[in-house]
Amino acid sequence: MEEHFIPGVHNYCDRWCERCPFTARCRVYATEQEFSEAANDPQDPAFWQNIKKSFEGVLEMLNKMMEEMGIDPAEVEKMPFPETDPDVKALEKIMREKTMRYADAVNDFFQEAGEYFEEKGEQLQEQVEAGEPVDLEGWQFFHDAVDVIRWYQYFISAKIHRAVTSLEHIEDDDDRIQSDSNGSAKIAMIAIERSLGAWEVLRQQLLEKNSEIFELHRQLQHLRSEINRLFPDWSAFHRPGFDDEPGSMMRMDFNPN
Ligand code: SF4
Repeated sequence: MEEHFIPGVHNYCDRWCERCPFTARCRVYATEQEFSEAANDPQDPAFWQNIKKSFEGVLEMLNKMMEEMGIDPAEVEKMPFPETDPDVKALEKIMREKTMRYADAVNDFFQEAGEYFEEKGEQLQEQVEAGEPVDLEGWQFFHDAVDVIRWYQYFISAKIHRAVTSLEHIEDDDDRIQSDSNGSAKIAMIAIERSLGAWEVLRQQLLEKNSEIFELHRQLQHLRSEINRLFPDWSAFHRPGFDDEPGSMMRMDFNPN
């Protein structure tokens, strides 16, 4: 009954399951649905039982993989923990600072614009109540753009972090194109592109906020050029499912990526 799952589809997705076209074919989604509401409550013993079950599943899968590769788990346990490459560590620190600067700037933007958004909302409501014409579709689009920006603001940081730290796990005989670094860089790039498109929607509606939005745009463009510099092959990475059915990855009309 497992064959309908796409192997690895969840590895390089954006974890936005509500909007994902692959929920019916994603093992992670299916597993998460098994968690009942009670099992999401840490006060409920079912919560800890499910965590235990998940860990056991991962351990079992790892042991199976090692067995297939002829690796003895007891030998692995005796091996010294590898040292972190200082270059990778330094790069990771720089990129974390840059990506978190963007995430914090997004928070500042929405905090400062909170009052403005409230006023706009009230104005719209008054217009609707007065029977005046309102571009509801445009505002729905705007709302969607805000969701996109919020969803990805920390996601970009997490994925670039993973792309950088995975660099030191690439072995000489690995397929460099299909590396975890490239896959993580690719989903980070997609998140950046969608965020840029979403900011453009906000810019068109909020002309008085153009200078702040321009600065956020500039930060994202810088992250985009950093990904191109550090992971020049990111676009060649093949994402299971998403790159087999490219039409299914379109998320927003203004940024068909
Ligand atoms: S592939 Fe889709 S359903 Fe599965 S975890 Fe990712 S976003 Fe969620």
